[in-house]
Amino acid sequence: MPNSQSQPASRYVAVIGAGAGGIVVARELSREGHRVVVFERNSQIGGTWVYSPEIESDPLGVNPDRTRIHSSLYKSLRTNLPRELMGVRDYPFLPREGGDRDPRRFPGHREVLKYLEDFANEFGICELVRFGTEVVFVGLELGKWRIRFRCENGAVHEETFDAVVVCVGNFTQPRVAEIPGIDEWPGEQIHSHNYRSPEPFRGKVVVVIGYSSSGTDISQELIGVAKEIHIACKSAKTELLDTQSSINSVSLHPMIESVHKDGRVVFQDGCIVSVDVILHCTGYKYDYPFLETNGIVTVNENRVGPLYKHVFPPALAPGLSFVGLPFKAVPLPLFELQGNWVAGVLSNRIALPSKEEMLADVRAFYAALEASGKPKHLTHELGDSSPAYMNWLAATCGRPAYEEWRREMYIATNINRLANLESFRDVWHDDELSRQAYEEFSKFTT
Ligand code: FAD
Repeated sequence: MPNSQSQPASRYVAVIGAGAGGIVVARELSREGHRVVVFERNSQIGGTWVYSPEIESDPLGVNPDRTRIHSSLYKSLRTNLPRELMGVRDYPFLPREGGDRDPRRFPGHREVLKYLEDFANEFGICELVRFGTEVVFVGLELGKWRIRFRCENGAVHEETFDAVVVCVGNFTQPRVAEIPGIDEWPGEQIHSHNYRSPEPFRGKVVVVIGYSSSGTDISQELIGVAKEIHIACKSAKTELLDTQSSINSVSLHPMIESVHKDGRVVFQDGCIVSVDVILHCTGYKYDYPFLETNGIVTVNENRVGPLYKHVFPPALAPGLSFVGLPFKAVPLPLFELQGNWVAGVLSNRIALPSKEEMLADVRAFYAALEASGKPKHLTHELGDSSPAYMNWLAATCGRPAYEEWRREMYIATNINRLANLESFRDVWHDDELSRQAYEEFSKFTT
């Protein structure tokens, strides 16, 4: 909704995190005329895309005192989306030739980091970032947002802002499966957050729990290295059975029923296996240890709420916002639109509904989720509703609608991935959509 009532405003805005989300949001805020400080605890931009060979001191990622590693990337990771989809809409992720570039359509992780560095250089984002600065407290005081941050030398400082945008990423705090008997089970456990390469699993019997992106990629990589791979997944992913059952070291099962002192794992299909390692590819939890809102914003069963359209807590809007919560969506174009919305609301270009109207919208959204049987922990999953959400944001921001080729390419990629887990990154059938994408990109490159 355009805001014709108020004068344009320039605010002093803190962005927490200089991953893809933070740098894209910082650009939107700067373009809108806000003064921006990005707090980043690492020494470089890129967040998830800054690969580390290190793993955490607790490979399962549950001990609160463990040494922490931010990135969940494994060494061989290539993107699971084609580059046409991944880039910011007006700064496409084009293939670049040259010594250290990876021009493949589904490039390796270093290429994504390079693209983010190109983006940050192009738009002067690094000058806005305070590196080596960890935000340890965010709270509202007398209508302003107080931020406490710790610098690399240990010194703690405070500063006050008009608004805070939280862009800390959602793939760092592991969520693990609850397994009856696990406390007495003698084997090793690891979360995919701490998986880097297949070598430590050589000759072992491995159970992989979960069969989304990480579960499928990692189990593929374990073929020929691990002795046996047993995949436990909630939904019977029957479309995958044909692909996997042809490889005799891989078995698909329903979830684990129990595990035992002697190393046995019993699956719900009655199958019993002696197992060396359980690898949890079970996703991540939202986590905002620095945020103090007196209970106004909570994380409950992985629902961050209440949030209007996954971004603004009605009672604290527009001063506090979250960018990047939705999953099963295409991240960077999403950050761009959510960031543009936040920037436009803060400058008074775009009006938010009243607090009551936003709360009513959130309540209706929760009721619809419940009626559809969707569990609470999937509140921020977009999936099929992604194009509608993106179009809503685009219309609200006065931006062009989500292009049809994006929707079709996303679907085509998923179908190809599920049918061809081992080859979808190198063989595809959507060249016409790719042609449309590059026609679109030519607007920004000529
Ligand atoms: P992050 O990249 O996690 O960045 C968050 C930043 O916040 C980090 O730099 C962190 O250091 C900083 N930070 C956190 N807490 C604080 C604090 N308290 N103070 C200061 N700084 C802080 N997306 C795709 O588009 N294509 C893919 O193929 C793809 N593959 C993926 C594969 C894996 C294994 C994973 C985990 C993710 C993948 N993604 C993919 C999604 C990817 O996470 C997003 O593309 C995007 O990089 C997320 O950016 P972000 O800024 O939200 O979070």
